[in-house]
Amino acid sequence: MSRAFYSNSTENYKTYDGSDLGFTYTAEHTTFKVWAPSSEQVLLKLYSTGSFHERNAQVLGIKQMNFDPMTGVWSATVDGNLNRTYYTYVIKNESGTHETQDVYSKAAGVNSARSMVVDLRSTDPEGWENDRRVLLDSPNEAIVWEVHVRDFSSSDTSGVTRQHRGKFLAFTEKDTCVPFTDYPTCVKYLKELGITHVQLNPVFDFGSVDEETGVEYNWGYDPVNYNVPEGSYSTDPYHGEVRIREFKEMVKALHEEGIGVIMDVVYNHVFSTASSPFEMTVPGYYFRMQNGKFLNSSGCGNVTASDKYMFRKYMIDSLKYWATEYHIDGFRFDLMACHDIDTMNMIREELDKIDKRILMYGEPWTANDGENGISGEDCCNKVNAKKLSDRIGMFNDDMRHGIKGGSDDDSKGYIQGNTHSAYSVIAGMMGASSTTFGNWAKAPSQCVTYVSAHDNLTLWDKILKSNWCKDYNTTDEMYLRQNKLAAVMVLLSMGIPFMLAGEEFARTKKGDHNSYKSPDSVNSIDWKRTITYKELVDYYKGLIRLRKAYFPIRDNTTQSVNESYIVYNGRTIAVTHKNDREGELKYMTVVINNSPDNPCTPEVRAHYELPADAYVLVNNRVAGDKAVAVYNKEKPISPRSAIVITDKETYDRINGADNQTQPEFEDTIEVTE
Ligand code: CA
Repeated sequence: MSRAFYSNSTENYKTYDGSDLGFTYTAEHTTFKVWAPSSEQVLLKLYSTGSFHERNAQVLGIKQMNFDPMTGVWSATVDGNLNRTYYTYVIKNESGTHETQDVYSKAAGVNSARSMVVDLRSTDPEGWENDRRVLLDSPNEAIVWEVHVRDFSSSDTSGVTRQHRGKFLAFTEKDTCVPFTDYPTCVKYLKELGITHVQLNPVFDFGSVDEETGVEYNWGYDPVNYNVPEGSYSTDPYHGEVRIREFKEMVKALHEEGIGVIMDVVYNHVFSTASSPFEMTVPGYYFRMQNGKFLNSSGCGNVTASDKYMFRKYMIDSLKYWATEYHIDGFRFDLMACHDIDTMNMIREELDKIDKRILMYGEPWTANDGENGISGEDCCNKVNAKKLSDRIGMFNDDMRHGIKGGSDDDSKGYIQGNTHSAYSVIAGMMGASSTTFGNWAKAPSQCVTYVSAHDNLTLWDKILKSNWCKDYNTTDEMYLRQNKLAAVMVLLSMGIPFMLAGEEFARTKKGDHNSYKSPDSVNSIDWKRTITYKELVDYYKGLIRLRKAYFPIRDNTTQSVNESYIVYNGRTIAVTHKNDREGELKYMTVVINNSPDNPCTPEVRAHYELPADAYVLVNNRVAGDKAVAVYNKEKPISPRSAIVITDKETYDRINGADNQTQPEFEDTIEVTE
């Protein structure tokens, strides 16, 4: 068990193991259960509407709930069909009398004023029973694209119909293009890009956007109802069943295109401690405290207590609910080091009962270690990775930093010519699982490989800042090469590749490094950039095709990691993945040259023992699973670029070139300056 620093009387509360907290609906009657062991009295209050000021709001009834001292649970059953009836609890306890929503709310009125009973089966879109998750044999088969629901389609460049822009339903439009062009956008674009999963910034109900006006912008890392979809992403936030149905329509539409949905879950803190249903329902229980003060490892004013029985149960119940009711394919845990190891492993075990292939990974840090309230040995950081399941991944910030330098400053990483960070880049390319280069991870499946995410500067803005360029629309070749080098390192690594939406078309937030509440003008995806930066998009597409085609990069065995052959010489890294699978390429070598002006000379390359007779799949201009050049070991590799080569003999056999003349390549070598 984890050891918490705090201790108070809440430790003695009776706990409950049932799976029926919240409401249990049938057409004949509905039962309500709320765990509130310290309460003197709990009343159930039923309403016709979801908010205080709606027209015709009326109290439909008030019912005294009954207490079970053995479990701490209050319950009441109401006869009749309560579908779409709103409700609250009036709880009298040591901190006063509070009217609050249900911590186990599954539906809510506008701005979460009240909880709601809903017949969940009535929210299923047509064909939902045939909807299936996108499941991959190993986590590192996944290629994740992180996007905010609103950013995805809020711009008119998305080509999405006006009423769906910024909403869940934008994901159901399958044939969108940049207006007046045939460049695909949104889901159609993603299908061509080849990613396997979208990771959505918070889509549970959060508090920072007024659902009635929808004017403000926010990323949504301020949870209110963990089990309710956010209302501002629905076309009708007033009727709680609408957002549920529209969320499912989004999931179904993505699944139909073979794209999985990963939820960004933020169980580590709540929007507002005092007004939180958790605190009103059981004061002092759900949060880690010290001397009567809320601890703050989340950096947001409170940290939840995953190590306490009923919050751990809450997390497990909530995740199982999203996985089963909404067919979610994976979960990304915000500030996962706020959570304890036992809880995360128990979540893995519980999700395994649904499907072992549901993805789990998270941020292996807190915002403030000193205020975490659990021992450093118990929290989910990289040091403790080996105590976790090898199917609980962690973002590899060492490699991120090694590739591009500091996230927001003008420092340089490997792509901008800093050779000092080569080691962390190599270790990262080995999925942080190499016995030689450092192995905080048990296996590549535990390592999320990335260079940009919603936090901090976009990769493009970081490249420009570190090169002292302020023209966010530049198409300067040197900056594009740095972006491409980063893409090679991420997509041809052994971990789980992850990217911020638009990294592949030089997405810019115009230097805004923390755009969590910046306007759409900063955050919206400008789909026109897919045209301006088409060559970069195609490069990412090609790397994704190559990744999917070459098994050893996606292999999750540490044997495969340790059999990789690595040579590092100052400005050049060469990684060779060997392969003995029948009918597949025998080897693939990734050579990265970060020199700003000097080509990688033949003498340097002699160290790598690259074969003379080979094909080039990737050079500084194009990438893919098809040969673009015959490798010539006498010719140098261009500055700031990578090449990927593979064996000619097997390639020709696979591609049927045996009885044909050799393919005619545009270049006999990679392009040089
Ligand atoms: Ca909300």
